[in-house]
Order: sequence, then C-alpha cells, then structure tokens
Amino acid sequence: MFSSGIRTRLIASFLVLIGVTLLALGSYILWFFHDYNTERLTDNLLTEAKIADQLLLPDVRDPAGRSSIEAHVKELATKVDHRITIIDKDGVVLADSWESPAAMENHRDRPEVRDAMASEQGAVVRYSTTMGENLLYVAVPIRDGADTLGVVRVAATLAYVEAGYNRIRSVLLLAFLVTSLLGVLLSFRLARKYTAPLETITRVARQMGQGRLDKRIHIRTGDEIEVLGHTLNNLAASLDDKINEIVAEKRKLELILANMDNAVVLLDRYGRVKDVNSLAAAVFGIAPAMIGRHNLQVIGHSALEKAVRETVEEGRSRRIDLKTNYSAVKRVFQVFLAPTPGTDNETAGVLCVFHDITALKEVEERQAEFVANASHELGTPLTAIKGFAETLLDGAVHDPELSVKFITIIQEEAERMHRLVKDLMQLARLNSAEYRQQVKLEPTAVDKIAAAVITQLSPRWQAKSLAVGLDAPERPVLANANADWLTQVLVNLLDNSIKFTPAGGTVTIACGREDGNAVLRVADSGLGIPAADLPLIFDRFYRVDRSRVREGGGTGLGLSIVKFIVEMLGGTITVKSGTGEGTTFTITLPLAQ
Ligand code: ADP
Repeated sequence: MFSSGIRTRLIASFLVLIGVTLLALGSYILWFFHDYNTERLTDNLLTEAKIADQLLLPDVRDPAGRSSIEAHVKELATKVDHRITIIDKDGVVLADSWESPAAMENHRDRPEVRDAMASEQGAVVRYSTTMGENLLYVAVPIRDGADTLGVVRVAATLAYVEAGYNRIRSVLLLAFLVTSLLGVLLSFRLARKYTAPLETITRVARQMGQGRLDKRIHIRTGDEIEVLGHTLNNLAASLDDKINEIVAEKRKLELILANMDNAVVLLDRYGRVKDVNSLAAAVFGIAPAMIGRHNLQVIGHSALEKAVRETVEEGRSRRIDLKTNYSAVKRVFQVFLAPTPGTDNETAGVLCVFHDITALKEVEERQAEFVANASHELGTPLTAIKGFAETLLDGAVHDPELSVKFITIIQEEAERMHRLVKDLMQLARLNSAEYRQQVKLEPTAVDKIAAAVITQLSPRWQAKSLAVGLDAPERPVLANANADWLTQVLVNLLDNSIKFTPAGGTVTIACGREDGNAVLRVADSGLGIPAADLPLIFDRFYRVDRSRVREGGGTGLGLSIVKFIVEMLGGTITVKSGTGEGTTFTITLPLAQ
C-alpha cells in the first residue's frame, strides 16, 4: 500500500541514520581511546627509557661496568614493571630484564632500534611470540656527548590497553543495540505519526474518486499535510457544486426534451442515431437497442438522410417537409436540422427536430377545399342570376310572361345565395373564439325550445300537410346549453325533415332523459338517407342527390352547423336512416346540474 510504503521507507531511513551515526561515533570513540592510551603509554615508556638511559650510561660507557648492567637493568625493571633491554651500537643485546642476552639475536634491524639510532626515539607495536601478546616497544639512544653508545629499549604489554578497548567496545555494542531498538520503536511511532494523516487523506480521496463528494478530510497537523487536506476538501466541494450544476442542467434539458411536443433525434456525423426523446421513440418506434444504428434503418426516410448529409457537408441548418406513414398513421413533419459543433470546428452530428404539422396541413387543405366549395356554391346561383339578367336585357324583358319566370328564378337564386351567405356567416361566427367566449351555458328547457321551433316553422309544415308533434315528459328537461344555439339546431333539423318528407308524412320531436343526459330525437317518415351517404351528411356542403326533392335549395351547411354546435355544448349527435325508412337524429346533451 502507498502509505505503508512510505512508512517502510521512513523507518528504513531512520534506521540507516541511527546505524551510520552510532557506527561512526563508536568507531571514533574506539579509535580515540586506543590512540590516546597508546600515546600515554608511549610517553611513559619514553620517560622511563630516558631515565634508564641516564642511570645506565656509566655502565655502558665503562667497559668494566658492563658486567653490572644486567643486575642494574633487572633491578630497574622490577621497579617500573616493564621490560628493559640495553643494546649496543652494533645491535648486540647487552642486557635484558626478561631474557638472557646471550640467547637473544642481534637487534640492529628492529625498527624501534633503527629509528632510535637514526633519530631521537623509536616506538613500535609488535606481537611478541615469547609473551603471546602485543607489546609496545619504545627506544631512545644512549649518547655520550656526540657519540651514540647504544639504545635503551623499554617494552610494555598492551594487554591492559586492549582489555580496556574491548570493554569499551562491548559497552558501545550494547549501547548500539539498545539505541537501535529504541530507534526502531521511535521510528515506528514517528512514521505512524506522519503517515496516519496521509492514510486518512488517501482513504477519503479514494472515496471522493468513487463519487462520494460529500466526504471531507478532518486532520489537524498544522503543517503542509493539513493544507493538502483542506485543498482536497475545497476541490471536492467545488467539484460537487459543478457536478450538481451539470446534473441540474442535464435534468432540465431531459425534462424539456421529454415534455416537448416535438420529436427530437440526435445523429452523429455519419447519420447514426445517438439519442432520441420519448416522443421520437414513440413516433418512429425506436427501441433502446436501435440506438447506434443508421437513420435509414431506424427512420427509413431517404429525404431525411439526404438532408442530414447536406447539413454535415455544408455545416448549415435547414428545414425540410417530410411525409411519413408509420403504423398506418400518415403524418407530415417539418424537420429542422441543425449541425452540432465538434471539437475541431467540424460538424460532430446533426440535431433533428420533428415538428408535426399534420393537423396544420389538414386545416390548410380543408380551408382550401372550403374556399373552393364556397366559391363554387356561390358561383352557381350567381351564374344563373347573371345569365337570366342578360337574357332579360337582351329582350326577354318585353315578354311579360318570360320576364316573370326569369325574375322569379333570379329571386330564388338570390334567396339561395342569401341563405348560403347566412349559413357561412353563422359558421364563421361559431368558429370565432371570441364569440364562443361570450356565449353563456345555462339550464335550458329543451322541450320548451322544441315547442317554440315547431310553432316557428308551422307555416311550412302546415303548407305540406305534415303532422308534426312533440313528445315530452311532464317535468321539463333541463340541459346545460344555450337557448339560441339549441333553437338553431332544432330549426335546421326540423327544416330538413319538412324538406325531405313528402306531403302527409309525420315528424316527431321527442325529449327526455337517458343515462344522465338530456336526449332530443327528431324523427320523420320521409325519404331517408342512403347508407352510402350517411357518413358524409355532416360534412360541409354535402348534399344527397339534389334531384330527389323538388324543393331543393339546401346549402349543405345545415347539418355541419348542427354538429358543430352540439359538440360545442359537449354533446353528441347520431343519425339512423335508410332509403324510404325515414330518418331519426338523436342528440344527447349534458343535463343541467
Ligand atoms: P341542406 O342545407 O342541403 O339540407 P344539410 O347539411 O342540412 O344540407 O343536409 C345534408 C344532406 O343530408 C341533405 O342534402 C339531405 O340530402 C340529407 N338530409 C338531411 N336531413 C334529412 C332528412 N331528415 N331526411 C332525408 N335526408 C336528409
């Protein structure tokens, strides 16, 4: 682990530091001790040698005294407890406190002897096979004026110095071990102290990395590590804010896309579907598994594919109209295609917004059809009026019989045009939202209105000897309606019944309540409507074959006005009829509360 790696390295560094320091210090102390003691001993031996030199000079100078040298040397040696050796200038051992001079070899080549002869003193440490230990040999020359008579050598064992040295070495070794142990413990504690906050930071940073941006680092070390913790906290907080902002933006966008009444499809630059909103998925039947496929496979419209290619190539937005037929539903879309920018000024893809203009197109078509129909309907009587007026002017006016006939036709045609214009104006008025807002719906007694309409049209049905009756319950039937509109509905229906029922026939208007609705039925015993025409009779300007009634003159707008009003009142209208079977129109309206 990262932090345990640091800890190991810290501990190792501490240990190396402690080890090197102790080793250097211990070596120095040992060296210093050895050197100091050897030097002290050398000085002592030197002093002793110089004293021996002075004491024994007479014996060495006087050849007769040489016999007593040995005794003097031994005496002196017992006093100083060191080995004393007297060597003449040729290297011959004259006396030795430990050995017999005769058994000893020539000492001329001993380094300390050579040094003493050459300079003022010589000192050497050497292993003595006789003693089986290291000895320090110190020698000074024996001078008589300018003459060098020989050398006094004093030797002492280094065993004490070495024993002391070994002791100190043991003590130092122990100290080294104890200090190392303490060092290890201390370095463990120190390493933990320094790595614990780092471990905390690592743990929390890892959680932050996994998306838990609400996590915070709480450490109080008062150093750079604490600053690092704060910095990470600030980083996480601002990252959290930014992500929240982005998520909110994304949600907003998704909400807008999901609730748009336009289908939206995002394509990449190669025309493959990248994303769609729910409406697009529903309209084009795009399952999630189809994301990533080419638009030709998904939407399957070559005109769209062409427009996408052009948008990518030109990098400019465009608008096209697209006629589609998905699941047998014909639709017309106005598609807005906009290039979406990529990183390096290249078009990354194309955003397609499908605006459903089917209804708009239908309205446009119906309007055009309506205008054509209205023009045709108005044009026919106008042509007749014009024709007869011209014939009159051309001379027929002088024929009183013809004049009356033609003027009567002109009057009838003008009357027809008047009715047509009246109906058209009525439709226009009903279509105006402003007018509809003004009209109030209130409890309206349908039976009373029916009776009034029967009375209003009585001259017409009486002229045809029709029996018109009202069938109403005793209690008035109150619908939530408008009296003027309801009157208009019943006038149109009764007027048709009168028109299409031969003399002597019957017409009945029945009122009542059924399934919580007010019901009005207009039934006649007239010509009836052929089954093929039934679905079309509510269309504007639709008339069943005009030749079948003498009293033509209908505009074809009456039933469409009726249907329009009934639907505005929240009701329904149905028709039951057949050729020669009479006709029954049934209207239901909501009852007044
Ligand atoms: P019009 O002004 O020609 O009567 P309507 O829209 O009122 O136009 O009626 C459309 C057509 O429906 C009429 O031309 C007529 O042929 C048929 N029709 C309407 N009511 C009746 C009815 N009661 N009996 C027979 N045919 C009817």
